[in-house]
Amino acid sequence: LAKKNRDKHVQYYKQEMEDQTLWRLGMIRQLRTDFADNRLELWYQPQLALKSGKVIGAEALLRWRTADGNFVSPAVFIPLAEYSGLIIDIGEWVVNQACKNIKAIEAEGFNDVGISVNVSIPQFRQDNFVDTIIDATKKYHVETSKLELEITENILMDDPQLVIDALAKLKEQGISIALDDFGTGYSSLSYLQKLPIDRLKVDRSFINDITEDGQSLLADTIIGLGKQLGLNVIAEGIEDELQEAHLISQGCDEVQGFFYAKPMPANEFLEFLKKN
Ligand code: C2E
Ligand code: MG
Ligand code: MG
Ligand code: MG
Repeated sequence: LAKKNRDKHVQYYKQEMEDQTLWRLGMIRQLRTDFADNRLELWYQPQLALKSGKVIGAEALLRWRTADGNFVSPAVFIPLAEYSGLIIDIGEWVVNQACKNIKAIEAEGFNDVGISVNVSIPQFRQDNFVDTIIDATKKYHVETSKLELEITENILMDDPQLVIDALAKLKEQGISIALDDFGTGYSSLSYLQKLPIDRLKVDRSFINDITEDGQSLLADTIIGLGKQLGLNVIAEGIEDELQEAHLISQGCDEVQGFFYAKPMPANEFLEFLKKN
């Protein structure tokens, strides 16, 4: 009976694996055609200077609206795009779209607004990755200092030297680098000093812990570390006034979160800039 039960389990497990594989393949196929059909959108979430409240830029975030009008979360489709290699072409589209939008923002008279884009490991593995980024800024006549790349610590798991070299080249060209989701990934503090980064993004999970009876030790420590290293520190995922007040008290430089604004389409971000 034990063996029979086990076989049943194995059978069930196999079926579930097969279903999942099929589902993923289907999603990848749909992502490929939807990307080709221009169904991906780049939205923008404002970033503000904490002291002045001024909008200093935005993070560009992908949105996938399928033909039935529903959105698929980036948390679901970015890993599939990475796995399938689609992220190479999508990532190039993202950078170009962001540069185009920087130009549109300038055309409205906003001259100090930058855009951050997220980049994935497979992009770094491309020989022409740095060129792709620089070419996009040239194509749209964008000052490189207005474009920032967000990388995560996990990017170093792969081939640290390759990443450090690529970042050094990008920095040489004036591109800014932010370390995203800081404190959640493969952390090696020794690399932190070697990386040519400009900005530290405190992960949302640490901001989430800042509540009346909550724990702010990690957020505070990360902010302190960033400041000690002479980096700009931005906190992400601020949802209420209490968190904001706390971040002010800790000397955090910049903020991004639903408390200020949710990600929005490009035209709405322009309106947001005009209102602020
Ligand atoms: P991320 O880079 O850490 O982006 C921040 C995420 O936190 C976004 O989720 C944003 O909508 C969300 N967020 C911001 N403020 C708040 C808040 O106050 N409360 C809550 N609950 N959430 C907040 P989103 O847009 O779903 O993106 C998820 C992740 O997908 C991103 O995390 C990023 O890792 C990835 N992603 C998005 N766009 C791209 C892209 O163009 N390229 C790559 N490689 N990855 C991307
Ligand atoms: Mg990010
Ligand atoms: Mg983040
Ligand atoms: Mg994140």
